[in-house]
Formats: sequence, C-alpha cells, structure tokens
Amino acid sequence: MQRGERPELMWGLGLNENEAMIVREAAGDGFHLRNHGAAKLPAPQSAEQETPFLIWIPQAVWQSMRPEMREFYEGFEEAQRVLILDEQASEMEFEHLVERGFLTAVRAPLTKARVQDVLYRAAEIKSLYADIFRMTREIFLERELLARKTDQLLFLNQILTRATESLDAGTILANAREDINTLFPVGAVQAALWTPTEGDALEAHLLLCPLAKGGEREAWIEYFLENATKLAAMPVRAFQVELLPGYPEEGELSSPAHGSTILLPLRSGFEYFGCLALTSTDRPALAKDQIQTVRAAVNHLALALRNAMAYSQVKTKAEYDGLTRIHNRASFDERLVEELKRHQRYRHPLSLLLLDLDHFKTVNDEYGHKAGDAVLRSIGRILSQTLRSTDFAARYGGEEFVVLLPQTSEDEAWLLADRLRSEIARQQFAAHGKEFKVTASIGVTSLKPGSLSKVRDLVQEADAALYLAKHNGRNMVCMSSQCDEAMVRQ
Ligand code: GH3
Ligand code: MG
Ligand code: MG
Repeated sequence: MQRGERPELMWGLGLNENEAMIVREAAGDGFHLRNHGAAKLPAPQSAEQETPFLIWIPQAVWQSMRPEMREFYEGFEEAQRVLILDEQASEMEFEHLVERGFLTAVRAPLTKARVQDVLYRAAEIKSLYADIFRMTREIFLERELLARKTDQLLFLNQILTRATESLDAGTILANAREDINTLFPVGAVQAALWTPTEGDALEAHLLLCPLAKGGEREAWIEYFLENATKLAAMPVRAFQVELLPGYPEEGELSSPAHGSTILLPLRSGFEYFGCLALTSTDRPALAKDQIQTVRAAVNHLALALRNAMAYSQVKTKAEYDGLTRIHNRASFDERLVEELKRHQRYRHPLSLLLLDLDHFKTVNDEYGHKAGDAVLRSIGRILSQTLRSTDFAARYGGEEFVVLLPQTSEDEAWLLADRLRSEIARQQFAAHGKEFKVTASIGVTSLKPGSLSKVRDLVQEADAALYLAKHNGRNMVCMSSQCDEAMVRQ
C-alpha cells in the first residue's frame, strides 16, 4: 500500500470502541481514523472541509440514519463507504446494502485481516480511479489538439486552393483575408508589391483596404512606401494604388499606428518583392503552432502573388510620383486626353495651371539637394490639401507641377492659382539650422464652355503664361490671355 506523507483520513460513523481499535491497529501509521459518535454524524458541510478516503459504517447506524443524511453519503462520491454487517445479517440484506453504492461489506466482528483486506481493495480502487481520470484528461487534450491541427490543415488547404485559383493580386488578398479569419480575427489584409526599375529605384503596387480614407489612407501609403524602401534597400520612384475588394461598405480602418499590425515580408529566393500587413483590432495571442501555420500560408501566398505580379506586369502602369506622392506625368497625359474629350462632350469649362518654383537651383545650391527634395514634397502636400477631389495635380517634371481643373472657369482658376502661390510663399522651410522661403510662378490657361476651337495645346499655352510670370518678376500668376495682349502690344 502506498502511503503519502500525511496519513490517509478515514471516518468511522458510530463505531464501538472495540471496532475503532481494530481498525486503527490493522491500518497502522499510514491512516488516521476519526470516529464520530452515532448521535453526531458529520454533516455535509464538514465534507467540504475534509474528504475521507474511506468511511466505516455499522449496519445499525446506516439503517437508523435520517433519509437525507443517507442520501448525502450516497452522493458523496469522493469517499468510499464500507458497511459493517451485523453478525446475524442475512445474505439478502448483504446484497441489498451493497447495491446502495458501498465499496464492500464486512461481517462483524471485525478482525485485523478483514480490515486490511478492505483497505487493500479501497487503495486499488482509488488508484484505478486516478488512472481513469488521468487517461480521460489525456484523451480530452489529445482530441483538442487533433481538432486544432485539423482546423489548421483545412485552413492551409483552403488558402492554397484559393490562392492558386486566381491570377489577380486583389482577389488573392481578399480571399486570404476571409481564410485567415477562420484562424484568428483579422480586419484587413493589405500588401505592397514592387519591382525594381532602371536607376535602382522601385515601382510599387499598393493594395489597400478601402475603409482607410483621407489621412488614414495617406498614413498607410507612407507605411508601405517606408517598408518597401527598407526591405528592398531602394527608394520608391513611382507607385500605384489599388483598392481591395471584399470589404463591407461601412466601417473604417485606422492608421497603422493604431490596432496591431503584423508585417510579413514576401520573398522569392533572397529577394524581397513585397510585404503583407495583417491588421486586427483586438490583439490576437497566437500560439506557436498557429504562427507556424500563418508562416506556411504566407509562403504559399507569396508564390501566388508573385505569379499574379508577373501576369499583370504588362498592364501595370505606375501612376504616382515617388517623391511628391502626387500623380506623375504619364498619368497626367492620359487624364488630359480624357478631360479634353469630356470638355467637348459636356461643354464644361476646363482650366490648366503650370507651376514652376522660382530660382530653385539656388535652393539646391545653398541648402543641398535633400532640402530641395523636402521642398518638392511639401509642394505635393500643399497641392493635395488645397485642391478639390475632382482636380488633378501631377508632377510634370523636376520642379514643375501641373494641375487640371475640370468645370473651372478662367476667373476661378486664377483665384485658385493665386491661393496656391500665396500658400507656397507663406511656407517656412529649414535646413542646416537656416530658415528659408520659396516662391512659385504659375501660368493659367482656360477653355471656355462649349468652345469648339481647333485642338489647342493647353500645356504650351500655360507654359507661355508661366514664362510671362517669370519675365514679369516671378512669384505671380499670369493668364495665357495676357500673352495674347502682350503679343498684340508688341
Ligand atoms: P526659375 O525661377 O527660372 O525657374 O529658376 P530655377 O532655378 O528654378 O530654374 P532651372 O530650371 O534653371 O532649375 C531647376 C532646378 O530644379 C534645377 C534642378 O537642380 C532642380 N531640380 C529638378 N528636379 C529636382 C529634384 O527632384 N530634386 C531637387 N532637389 N532638385 C530638383
Ligand atoms: Mg523649371
Ligand atoms: Mg524653376
């Protein structure tokens, strides 16, 4: 018999002195018998404080016990009960009593051998129960683990099947978001994919969640461009934004600084060609095996996205300028053709501004090229913030910017141009501890509503007006109509 450090507790319920003595002697040091008087049996509350391993109950005490007390002992499953049968008890009584959930019954008078036999059996049963309990627990845990593994396999299978079904990066990401959600809650799955171009710079394709708007979207663009530059160790020269399908119409996505975002680089061989950002509002605590599953999924997603990129490379055109974050010249040229067609069809006015920074060479010479770049970035920001969403601003080249203003008359265009001019002149810049300001000259040209004149070269007209502004002293706005007057006067 195994003995713990503390003796095992046994209760006697109204044992006579002789019986108590025999039990104590037969049990030895490993056990402690607490014998309660028949008139003062322990109530259910005392069972909450201590649980005896075995309870000895003489037949007479059991039979005279109040029914609710008997019920309590019958339900007290942690403790095993042994009945001490009267010497004259019949075989039938024996069987009837044992049916009431007793471990066993011994016939009086008690002897050392009988007591030891009971104790031996009780210990056997106890360790058997402990084994069954442990095995049940193990089976339960095993089953949980299996269920989890099955979920992960199903997830991997699902994500792989769907990823290879499509050659469109947007669809692949929208599906991946759905699938990852079966593993843990994820609000957005966004990505940047890039390809190096000549001059050691990147052209990037940003796949963004449509729920991030305005400043939030700008913050995400910033986040992806920064990470692209870091991972590829090259600056982003131009990028294009695509809004992802599969999101609800309502709702919002906060900037990357809030919530928790996991950035997962996408690699092919030793080369990074993109990164994924998984964002969830509540921080999911992922177990090690779940992280491994996500990693495996991302490796396969990387492959699928790489294929999608190769497929769409032919049709992908970068639309934005990497330095100023506004549209580039190629996308302006396209937009100009569209707006001219629209002007012809709907007879709306259309205006165009050409903006050139004054003495910009001097800024570079005095404060360095980096400070010059920072100025160009600020001009991009001022343009985005000052213009309406229907206006179209682009970097035309170097320190020249162009703005298309649909449905805007000459007068309105002049006002807007002058507002831009004074906003730029107001701006304070600093480099190497020195503060400086920058001014801009702007040329404006307009097509009147319904003018069916021969095709005019709007850029050339605005350029002529810009030349006039430079000629007349810079930091000013001139209209192309003034050029005609100047020509007439000459
Ligand atoms: P003006 O008032 O007549 O326009 O004088 P300007 O110095 O601005 O004119 P110019 O065309 O001679 O010089 C333009 C300068 O802009 C030259 C070039 O160094 C600078 N520039 C063009 N692109 C960039 C750029 O991406 N970054 C920086 N830092 N400078 C640029
Ligand atoms: Mg210039
Ligand atoms: Mg200039």
